[in-house]
Amino acid sequence: MSDALSLETKVVHAGEPEREPGAPVCVPVYHSTMFVTQESGDYHAIKYLRLNNSPNHLQLGAKLAALEGGEAALVTASGMAAITTTLLTVLGRGGHLLAQRGLYGGTHGFIEHDFESLGLGHTWVDATRGDGWEEALRPETRAIYVEALTNPKLEVADLEAVVRFARAHRLVSIIDSTFATPVNLNPLKLGFDIVLHSATKYLNGHSDLVAGAVVGNSEIVERVRRTLNHLGGSADPSVCFLLQRGLKTLWLRVEAQNRSALEIARWLEKHRRVARVNYPGLESHL
Ligand SMILES: *Cc1c(COP(=O)(O)O)cnc(C)c1O
Repeated sequence: MSDALSLETKVVHAGEPEREPGAPVCVPVYHSTMFVTQESGDYHAIKYLRLNNSPNHLQLGAKLAALEGGEAALVTASGMAAITTTLLTVLGRGGHLLAQRGLYGGTHGFIEHDFESLGLGHTWVDATRGDGWEEALRPETRAIYVEALTNPKLEVADLEAVVRFARAHRLVSIIDSTFATPVNLNPLKLGFDIVLHSATKYLNGHSDLVAGAVVGNSEIVERVRRTLNHLGGSADPSVCFLLQRGLKTLWLRVEAQNRSALEIARWLEKHRRVARVNYPGLESHL
């Protein structure tokens, strides 16, 4: 689908198949674990629900890719499945990660508690300032990981500096853009290699499912898919259906949320019982 289309059009139409008259306008839920498969030597090409290639996975992937402006995308069983599977794929054996301080609790916990037993290394860095990261580099550093807005403190990293640093040192740049959504930020346009989402939050928007997304170029997304196929964090087709439906109102919801959040933040900032408000839309935000 043409990149020239506005996001409010893309959320509805992007990634949807061409439809003949009489065809349903919504993607049906394919409750089939197996699909007829042509003889193939490649395990990952077998049409099977866990291998992330059912029609529900593929059509939702096409929509997610279009919304982030990526070549390809993958839907996962949760945001944490997207994050852990991507990190395991990118870091490889003995890899080391530079990670922003103050990340979402689940991600922080995975890095802090599980990395060591997996043979992976990490260093926490202050990503709001574009310096001091060189000292944290090791020969085995493979990637740098930030959140668009950290959950819950809403810190904003110097995203352009992160991309520049990653390119200069041949690191894979990864951003969890859950809190920004494609309405507020296009990390791939900034030069990030991989965008992750907890679709449980704004992408779905109705608090009735858990899912995640991985977006990037086709080669990297296929590598993550192969790890995901082995780890088993695939989304259920009913979840894909609900997420595809939720995405259609993403633009309208986030636009309205931006307006009300700013109004509430301004009101709180003036409140005599409130010491400090963290909201990146405020002039006072660090
Ligand atoms: C919620 C959240 C996650 C984890 O997502 P789940 O869908 O709950 O696994 C990851 N990153 C951020 C920023 C989140 O807010």
